[in-house]
Amino acid sequence: MALRLVRNSTNVASRTVERVAEARLPTETGEFRIVGFRSLVSAEEFVALVKGELRPDRSSLVRIHSQCMTGDVFGSIKCDCGRQLSAAMKLIEQEGHGAIVYQQQEGRGIGIINKIRAYALQDEGADTIEANERLGFEADMRRYEQCAEILLELGLRAVRVMSDNPAKIRALRQAGLKVVERVPLAVEPHDFFAGYLKTKKEKMGHLCSVA
Ligand SMILES: [Zn+2]
Repeated sequence: MALRLVRNSTNVASRTVERVAEARLPTETGEFRIVGFRSLVSAEEFVALVKGELRPDRSSLVRIHSQCMTGDVFGSIKCDCGRQLSAAMKLIEQEGHGAIVYQQQEGRGIGIINKIRAYALQDEGADTIEANERLGFEADMRRYEQCAEILLELGLRAVRVMSDNPAKIRALRQAGLKVVERVPLAVEPHDFFAGYLKTKKEKMGHLCSVA
């Protein structure tokens, strides 16, 4: 397989992730492949959930999904992450090809323990951004360059992105991927996370429509 070169911040062409393992993953939604990647510049690990053949000559549905233990695993309704992940898997299954890069940047990069601390502040009335800032973090600590690199490594050159987050779309474009469409995920609204979505839209520039 040809090595793909990317430019890092020092402008030296280099690869920052490596593919280390791959297996079949049958799921409730359908049959996928799971591919494990390791960062060459940090301790971070990534997983890509892949469906069908990913080819450079056609666009595939993709999502960069940031780990959300509370939403993805426990079905928390404080946020819409779990529903977005499941909607993305269903769309890819229907389409027959696509990929989800699952990055382990829990709580917008602050980790699960700090996320629980932030939730405690939210219990006292802070919104999601105020809570992060009161703990001394930026509102969003996530980086997406390596996720984009993984999509290229998987063989994609053009993508239809399932995301409301302009920073993710920007990262894909900067990595050289052609973003041909933004595909909104039709997530069933829930009263409980309406406030969270409103904050994401008003304070973080997300493109989601809020009723
Ligand atoms: Zn979440």
